[in-house]
Amino acid sequence: MQYIYIQPVDEVDVDLFVPGLNFVFGLASGNNAVISLVRLRPEYYRERKNEYLFRERSLKEAIHEPGHTFGLHHCPDIRCIMHFSNRLEDTDIKGPGFCKACSNKIRNKLGEALNIPPKL
Ligand SMILES: [Zn+2]
Ligand SMILES: [Zn+2]
Repeated sequence: MQYIYIQPVDEVDVDLFVPGLNFVFGLASGNNAVISLVRLRPEYYRERKNEYLFRERSLKEAIHEPGHTFGLHHCPDIRCIMHFSNRLEDTDIKGPGFCKACSNKIRNKLGEALNIPPKL
């Protein structure tokens, strides 16, 4: 029996920056991912506190970044969780799930790790 170890996503309450971008909601490298909660809160934009919206956004980022650790790149489908969030509106538009193409990629990556032949 083989096991896949999925690195937990680290959540931080500080703003994240990378060279060339003024901020990022999250970051993934190798098997590690980190998300910043700061800009996911409506209060950050002087909007009314909304715990549900904050949790929904956090969940989406916590699915998106590990997607990169599975080798997925940004997806052109704006409804797909792997779509790049340049603005918070992008995060709010997309769903929490993977599009068909990204689902297949994830399934095949997991299949490789578990030695399961790809689905035809
Ligand atoms: Zn991304
Ligand atoms: Zn996709």
